[in-house]
Amino acid sequence: MQHVFSGLPAAPGIGVGTLYIYNPLPQRSHPHARTVQASTPAEEWERFVVALQRVDDELARLSAVGNSFLSDIFHVHREILHDKTLTDSVLAGIDNGLTASEATQQATADLVDIFENLSDAYFASRATDIRDVSQRLLVHLDGVSLAQQLHDLPPDTILVAEDLTAFDTGHLSSTTVVGIALAGSAPTAHTSILARSLGLPLICALGPGIMQLEGNQPAIVDGIQGRLFVMPDTETLESYQEMRVRLRSFRISAEASSHEPAVTVDGCNVPVRANINSREDVLLIPSSGADGIGLLRTEYLFQQRTTPPSVKTQVEAYREMADQLPGEIFTVRLLDIGGDKPVQYLPQPLESNPFLGVRGIRLLLQEPHLLQDQLQALVLLAREVPPTNTIRVLVPMVSKVAELTRVLEILDQVDHVADVRYPGGPLQIGVMIEVPAAALMADHFASLVDFFSIGTNDLSQYTLAADRVNSAVAALATSLDPSVLRLIGMTCDAGAAAGIPVTVCGEMAGDPSITPLLLGLGVKELSVATPSVALVKYAVRQTDMAQARLLARAALECGRAQDVTALLKQNI
Ligand code: PEP
Ligand code: MG
Repeated sequence: MQHVFSGLPAAPGIGVGTLYIYNPLPQRSHPHARTVQASTPAEEWERFVVALQRVDDELARLSAVGNSFLSDIFHVHREILHDKTLTDSVLAGIDNGLTASEATQQATADLVDIFENLSDAYFASRATDIRDVSQRLLVHLDGVSLAQQLHDLPPDTILVAEDLTAFDTGHLSSTTVVGIALAGSAPTAHTSILARSLGLPLICALGPGIMQLEGNQPAIVDGIQGRLFVMPDTETLESYQEMRVRLRSFRISAEASSHEPAVTVDGCNVPVRANINSREDVLLIPSSGADGIGLLRTEYLFQQRTTPPSVKTQVEAYREMADQLPGEIFTVRLLDIGGDKPVQYLPQPLESNPFLGVRGIRLLLQEPHLLQDQLQALVLLAREVPPTNTIRVLVPMVSKVAELTRVLEILDQVDHVADVRYPGGPLQIGVMIEVPAAALMADHFASLVDFFSIGTNDLSQYTLAADRVNSAVAALATSLDPSVLRLIGMTCDAGAAAGIPVTVCGEMAGDPSITPLLLGLGVKELSVATPSVALVKYAVRQTDMAQARLLARAALECGRAQDVTALLKQNI
């Protein structure tokens, strides 16, 4: 039976092939099963020093030939290699009777533990770099590498792993591997960036469940929507096979024109912005061609801390991003956490249905100090940005008009708000349309806000009553279901009647085959994961609005999601 896992799209493209489960993490040697050194500690230390020198030479060579991004990675790896904490810890292990390779495994595993437990996501992700250095040292100490298996993979392999180091990725060949599915990692991790440079579709954050999968099963990696299909049914397989062929030629042309504006055949300009989940994601914007930020998920600023970030900390974090976007729109979504994403400093009772519980604006209205501080930080930011910049504030998980009016009342009390909130001013307020109730009441919301942003990930899960993180029902929650399309259409109509722009920022916006349908439904702007910006801009340039409207009208008449999919295919 077909199984679908949902994760974060990190490198666009479609891979159709067979699963290969890769589990190479170096194991810490068991304290009671240590190899007795055949040589003296001095000889083991000498072996380590020789291996260290060889790895250093190797990294120096690699950083000289790679592009600047790769050079930076290898530079970081050289720093880790020479870090005194690492070498002292290896020396201590050798003095305690471990061999050089055991001491290396022990020392690097200890460091990985420390880094993985750090609250700063940036430092936590350095654990992968430490694993990389460990792998390189062990090759020189033992002459064997688990990553060697990546050299000899059969054609059409879909690689499944917890995470991959740059060392692992260096062993991959895009002639045998057609896609990567990772249980952990992030779109900004080195692995994701390297996969993009190799042109390999990659999905990350699929969850630990994928490491239990059996190898050799047929599968599909959808690096655009972030889905892994295992044992796909015939219909899914056929549609992805076709999509893969189309995408290949499409991508080449799209990337060549990523910095040109996205204007339809008949002259409609459609800004394509980026969805950003962390501080590091912003680094991807300049090369992506994105027209600003369409969704900053601010959760990363609030999680893994013992107290909420102060107004000052928030202003600094937002300013750092705004500085990268001269003349662009910067959309910041208010904190969207709830029962499924706990934070230490908030009492959040366990909920049996966290997605239906105290989430997003519901939580912020229960904890108004959090809302006031975030609004204050955004008002202060809007006061200092150049007049060409616009700060858009997006209110998440709204289901009632009264919730929005309460937020607007609280905003009115914030210091200096009058300096920035006036018609045409630098601070705009918008509402996420991601609960069916909000779409149904869109005309009422439209008169209160400056823009709408449709969150199709949640809108689909709530419309179809299918939990977006439950892989058993994830396929039910397709955003192409006509019920979801009707709600998108209603929202666009309400936006047009009130003269406010409507954006889609859910994952469906990143699929270029859906672009004409969304524009035909009346969507005016798109916000997508950075790897998809070039593809979506290219799709906009190929869209004729008269045809797109006909396509949308036909899709709204469909009874089933597969009929909509069939229409999209005919449209190509
Ligand atoms: C959405 O729901 O579509 C959305 C963009 O928000 P998130 O995925 O962060 O819930
Ligand atoms: Mg959402």
